[in-house]
Amino acid sequence: MKLVVAQLQHETNTFSPVPTPWSAFGGHDGPYLGRAAADAMAGTRLPMKAMLDLAATAGAHVETPFAAWANPSGPVDPDAFERFCDLLCAAASAGCDAVMLDLHGAMVVGDVFEDGEGELLRRLRAAVPGVPIGVSLDLHANVTAQMVEHATVIAGYKTYPHVDQYDAGRLAGSILLRALRGEVRPVMAWGNRPLLAQTLKQNTGESPNRDFVDAAREGERRGLLAASSFGGFQQADIHDAGISVVTVADGDAPFARAECERILDVAWAQREDFVYRGRPLADALADAKRQGDATGGPILLLDHADNCASGANQDTMTVLRAALAAGLTGIGVGPVRDPEAVAAMIAAGVGATVTLPVGGKIDMPAIGRRGEPLVLTGVVRAITDGEYTVTGPQFTGMRCFMGRTAVLDTGAAQVVVIERNQEPWDLGVFTSVGIDPARCRYLLLKSRMYFRPVFLPIAKGHVFCDAPGVGTSDWTAFEYRRLRRPIYPLDPFPTDHR
Ligand SMILES: [Zn+2]
Repeated sequence: MKLVVAQLQHETNTFSPVPTPWSAFGGHDGPYLGRAAADAMAGTRLPMKAMLDLAATAGAHVETPFAAWANPSGPVDPDAFERFCDLLCAAASAGCDAVMLDLHGAMVVGDVFEDGEGELLRRLRAAVPGVPIGVSLDLHANVTAQMVEHATVIAGYKTYPHVDQYDAGRLAGSILLRALRGEVRPVMAWGNRPLLAQTLKQNTGESPNRDFVDAAREGERRGLLAASSFGGFQQADIHDAGISVVTVADGDAPFARAECERILDVAWAQREDFVYRGRPLADALADAKRQGDATGGPILLLDHADNCASGANQDTMTVLRAALAAGLTGIGVGPVRDPEAVAAMIAAGVGATVTLPVGGKIDMPAIGRRGEPLVLTGVVRAITDGEYTVTGPQFTGMRCFMGRTAVLDTGAAQVVVIERNQEPWDLGVFTSVGIDPARCRYLLLKSRMYFRPVFLPIAKGHVFCDAPGVGTSDWTAFEYRRLRRPIYPLDPFPTDHR
């Protein structure tokens, strides 16, 4: 048996000013290709690792054309997308019994393909008609009819923060292998509801998203081979953004359809609970200060609108500016992306006192904002290569590359400044530069959800700080043109609408 296994992961924020070229995928030098793609999975708990493990157990020969993962950002460069398609189709066309793909499901390609994964799968199927294709998707996939049409099996993550990536890869891959052996005959149903679910409300540890995901688990208990509830990714102006469900039954298409609709109804009935309601930044910081004074911290200041895991610049300074103005001290800030500031601090050297503009270098035309740097004076405390390995429960084992990294200590704040966007999804963003996050009174994190498994356990409290950014949860900041309408909560629906 010969299998083709590959990973292509990108969550595209169509409002993001951050470009996504070929080089954005992978480690230092772009995507991992060939043998290096398989090697890059060693020690990880990613879907592609599960697929490789299944292949090894089955004694299959494996081709791995690429493993490619980029931070969420603006639309993928069409030339990069073409290279991925060509590599994948060539590997499959060389001869294989099945293809297993670790995809995201919310990739947009330039202004060419708003359904990147659907286009990739369409080409793959055209290249190798009749070859079964198993796909794992992120919980934030904006699943389309085209993806379902050109895949044999789809299974998504059931957790957010994502701690079951391996399980999703294993589920998709194992159903595919069973189908190859003639043990099952997968049939899929897909559907959606006109609902933009706020990312902040998609934590699967609590309602409403816990109920949505539990409904999928219930479907699997009832006999589905797989059921996946997708919260969707909403900072994407595409037709099918929003919640969706994919069910996989063994030969019973009506059962797959009925379960798909049942699971969707669970989310739709709770649509009001998928709406995030914020508060003014000053109120949030006053609350944080009270908590910090009372407990000694750390209190998490969550600058969620500038979360690079939603495609944001990771360089807005609104929250830090306001926190300093509000008199907060002992703030660990991280990370802020600003290659110019890093270069200036490296030139000055460790121990030097510098005054320089930090962050705010990137304009955000999609929300009508210019970049606003914050001029800071402080001591350069550390300079590193910005590399560390994730030890926490999510992306475990993944090698992270923040680019050259410098720490600016202003007295009130220690600001971790990096060259490459990097979500603070592990304590390593601080510990790798000599900061003990547990000893900070406040931790200003450009995080929306990933702080939960890693930073909540060391925190005494957390406060969501609403500020401008292209990852904002205030969708009135965006002008949607391609999104299907009407859609809740942008448009009203009668309360009895089903
Ligand atoms: Zn996700």
